[in-house]
Formats: sequence, structure tokens, C-alpha cells
Amino acid sequence: MVRKNQEEKELEICISCGTETEVKKTDNVIYRSGYIEGAGQLCFKCSQTENLSLAGSFETNEWFRYGL
Ligand SMILES: [Zn+2]
Repeated sequence: MVRKNQEEKELEICISCGTETEVKKTDNVIYRSGYIEGAGQLCFKCSQTENLSLAGSFETNEWFRYGL
């Protein structure tokens, strides 16, 4: 079976920058990094940005606006 192509389509897209993440849609959200409940999946890069944002700023929605 050719699983590779199917897996590529199963990857989550970053809600912030639109990049394909390494997270599969079938992955349980509790094991994901960069997953925002009610919003979606962030790529590694954006999840790092989000962490900085949450830690250092009261404008926690700033990162969110970029992707929507
Ligand atoms: Zn991203």
C-alpha cells in the first residue's frame, strides 16, 4: 500500500501561517504540541511564537490574527 501520499494529505495545516505541520490529523490532540483548543494546529515555528506571546504579552490574540 502507498501510505506516503495519504499521510501527506492527513497533515494539519498551521492556522497561523498556512504551512503544513508535522502533526497528523489523526493524532490525538492531547499528544500534540502547538495545538490550540478551539482554533487548530500551529506549526513548530508559530507555536514557539505563541509561547513567547503568552509568556510576555497581554495581547494573546495578536498571533492569532495573522492567520485569519
Ligand atoms: Zn505556522
